[in-house]
Amino acid sequence: MLKVILFVLVGCVTMAAAWLLAGIPGHVVASIGAYTVETSTPIAILMLVALLVVVLILLRIVRGILAVPRAGAGWRRRHRLALGERTVTRVLIALAAGEPAIARKEARRGRHLLGDSPQTLLLVAEAARLSGREDEAEEAFRALTKQKDASFLGLRGLLRQAVDRRDWPEALIIAKQAEAAHPGTAWLRQQRAELALQTENWAEALELIGPDSRRSTYYIAAAAVEADPSRALAFAKQAWRQDPAFAPAVLAYASRLRAAGHEKRAQSCIADAWKRVPHPDLAAFALALEPDKLARARAGKRLVAGNPTHPESRLLLARVALDAGLTGEARHQLETAEKEGLKQQRLCLLLAEIEEQEYGDTEAGRLAQRDALRRAATAEPDPHWQCTTCRTDHAMWHPKCDVCGGIGTIQWSSAVRTSGLSVVTV
Ligand SMILES: [Zn+2]
Repeated sequence: MLKVILFVLVGCVTMAAAWLLAGIPGHVVASIGAYTVETSTPIAILMLVALLVVVLILLRIVRGILAVPRAGAGWRRRHRLALGERTVTRVLIALAAGEPAIARKEARRGRHLLGDSPQTLLLVAEAARLSGREDEAEEAFRALTKQKDASFLGLRGLLRQAVDRRDWPEALIIAKQAEAAHPGTAWLRQQRAELALQTENWAEALELIGPDSRRSTYYIAAAAVEADPSRALAFAKQAWRQDPAFAPAVLAYASRLRAAGHEKRAQSCIADAWKRVPHPDLAAFALALEPDKLARARAGKRLVAGNPTHPESRLLLARVALDAGLTGEARHQLETAEKEGLKQQRLCLLLAEIEEQEYGDTEAGRLAQRDALRRAATAEPDPHWQCTTCRTDHAMWHPKCDVCGGIGTIQWSSAVRTSGLSVVTV
């Protein structure tokens, strides 16, 4: 309805204009050289309007012809972009499907079509890594680091490569550059913590690492390498607080207390730990400053007073009694431990020592010793420090296994030894 009204209105206006135009009086004469054109004024106006329309149409045609090459370039660019985007999609699918050859081929095609954009460089690098072409991936990651807004992506890739080949110095340099490019990321913090552990920078690891069941281990290790005695004592105290029953943590703290002149406090920590979980290393520390054998026997009794029936307590009392020549007491402790279920090699070896001390080099003594040693050969293995990852035996506890590199993996274990029989000493 609106269109009809509009059409009628336009028709009326056109007719009115034509009527007005036709009513204009006079005529127009134009002379060009020998030619003269004469016509009425309305016709002359119509011809002028027609000429203007023709000129406008010609101008549009000329502009269209001039724009053809530019339009062609635009079309080619759009076509290239569309092809590139489809290629990027194919790379992503190949990467997700674990198809390295296709991913690498399509990624390189995408880079050719789209140029060195952050997306194409990242895809080239990831496809190269999937194909095992680390050098090609490194080239793409390095190109990424030169892109102002995407340098973190390149550094992240280079850091992963350095960590994979265990090049810790290089990884540390890249981690610092990545921190400068994009500070405060959780991923980078985790990577830096792992690097600090691998390079045995325990203090930095403690600052970077979050909740971790191995914190006690890190504190012990930090205390061991700290040159400042007061800082070393603080680290050792933290280790002890984290796990007051873990012998290496207790010993780390007690040894620094002793070095600082707090012997009473050191002995108190050891006695407290013995109540919780007795360990031969605790006894060795507690009795280390006591040279007299009878005094050591008395000190042993004091140490085990809070946990006297534990097999470790009976073995310690037997050891110090035997050293003091109290073979009756030593034998009593061992026989009681055996009745209570202890069947380890060290018990049999101590019995052999008692036989030797009591009977000397006699036929009866030799027979009794041989019997005790035979029993030791088939007895249960003694507890010892062993790496829970690679099963390597260690003479003493370390924060890091020097065979497999595991941190906090060395534990007090009753598993079968890989390094033969042990001897009970205090
Ligand atoms: Zn190991």
